[in-house]
Amino acid sequence: MEEFGVTRTDMAPMDQVQRIPVTEVFIDIYDPTICLNRCVNKPCTYFCPTQVYQWQDNQVVINQDRCVECGASVMGCPYGNIDWKYPPGGTGVVIKHG
Ligand code: SF4
Repeated sequence: MEEFGVTRTDMAPMDQVQRIPVTEVFIDIYDPTICLNRCVNKPCTYFCPTQVYQWQDNQVVINQDRCVECGASVMGCPYGNIDWKYPPGGTGVVIKHG
């Protein structure tokens, strides 16, 4: 794939990408009252590329099954209000090398 004059050869073919279901909560909101009362534009609902976060019934609803572990949550929330960790070892997105 060529983009911006750079040829990408390091993208994993989909047969090398696997999702192992995660049963533990690895994404949470520290203080939902900040979302409700202080955060005006709810940017988490649009900065996440896979739409993990949705605003419903005056709260952030998290669909962590959609997470591709890009880490945007940690950087994007203006209040540092998202508690995001990698899923427990051996689960989540796994890219096989070799
Ligand atoms: S961006 Fe952060 S503070 Fe704003 S609604 Fe989302 S989680 Fe809450």
